[in-house]
Amino acid sequence: MKRILVTGGAGFIGSHLCERLLNEGNDVICLDNYFTGSKDNIRHLIGNDHFELVRHDVTKPYTAEVDEIYNLACPASPIHYQYDPVKTIQTCVIGSMNMLGLAKSVRAKILQASTSEVYGDPDIHPQIESYWGNVNPIGIRSCYDEGKRCAETLFMDYHRQNNIRIKIIRIFNTYGPRMSMNDGRVVSNFIVQALRNEDITIYGDGRQTRSFQYVDDLIEGMIRMMETRDTFTGPVNIGNPGEFTMLELAKKIIELTDSKSKIIFHPLPQDDPRQRKPDISLANKELGGWQPTIKLEEGLKNTIDYFRNLI
Ligand code: NAD
Ligand code: UDP
Repeated sequence: MKRILVTGGAGFIGSHLCERLLNEGNDVICLDNYFTGSKDNIRHLIGNDHFELVRHDVTKPYTAEVDEIYNLACPASPIHYQYDPVKTIQTCVIGSMNMLGLAKSVRAKILQASTSEVYGDPDIHPQIESYWGNVNPIGIRSCYDEGKRCAETLFMDYHRQNNIRIKIIRIFNTYGPRMSMNDGRVVSNFIVQALRNEDITIYGDGRQTRSFQYVDDLIEGMIRMMETRDTFTGPVNIGNPGEFTMLELAKKIIELTDSKSKIIFHPLPQDDPRQRKPDISLANKELGGWQPTIKLEEGLKNTIDYFRNLI
């Protein structure tokens, strides 16, 4: 049994991770300030003797005797990370320093939830880990993109300077049950709009692409990454290479929900990436043949069921 700290554990991805780690017989500390996460996401885990909940902000130091740290604390949707951009950078940078400091003092292994956003609006397609990205350093997405890039730098420097065992994963768009209903991300927006027979809001002409990964596939990749040999730090892409336009996604969700919604078009937000698709050959090689197993249609059906119950 390991003692594992999950920062951002009450969020969408964090709650699935806590659940899986507990099911595997570990002691889990879930640390969260509830900015975008919620106790509802982890309510079913409260009462488990191996689960502890800590209300804490990662921008303040925290100590606990742990073997592993998964650093997920950070708002992830554009609406939420742009709400208080300075705080977003603090969470990425100071939060990472605090968690790396903790890893150093207790000799824990630490994994950083980085993002495909480090590639910005990519000139290379699909994106491979050796690509350095095309990021606007002064735009409205920069607090998140540059914050996450700086966090990767900190992880690598703590590793080189202090020999900390680190792991960096670059997560591509992930969806599934417990996504927040009101965080403006495309999958939750479209499903909720379709279930309510409201207009489906496509930003821009809908030809921009994303690759959507079901949350269970991500969790499997994260856990396998933590188990890799100490010399393998990443960064490694974790995503589903299936690539869809937002128009295709909207039509698929209308079909699966049997909705009467119509598609309408809104202006494209500033710096919205045109395309995104992971090259997952490194993950496949280093994470024991890992690859996504859940097709978009199957994952969407589970997510639609979740939102139907909520609504
Ligand atoms: P989320 O917003 O549901 O979860 C983030 C959690 O972090 C929330 O519970 C929030 O309350 C908590 N948090 C935020 N700031 C904090 C702080 N200062 N101190 C303590 N807790 C704090 O988002 P998510 O989709 O679950 O994302 C989790 C992680 O994965 C994030 O780091 C995100 O950048 C990364 N990621 C997610 C995606 C995706 O598609 N969902 C893609 C790439 C990267
Ligand atoms: N998007 C959209 N309608 C919405 C919400 C988002 O067309 O109601 C678009 C958004 O402009 C982007 C894509 O969907 O091109 C994915 O957006 P999301 O915020 O989910 O993720 P990210 O842009 O961070 O990849």
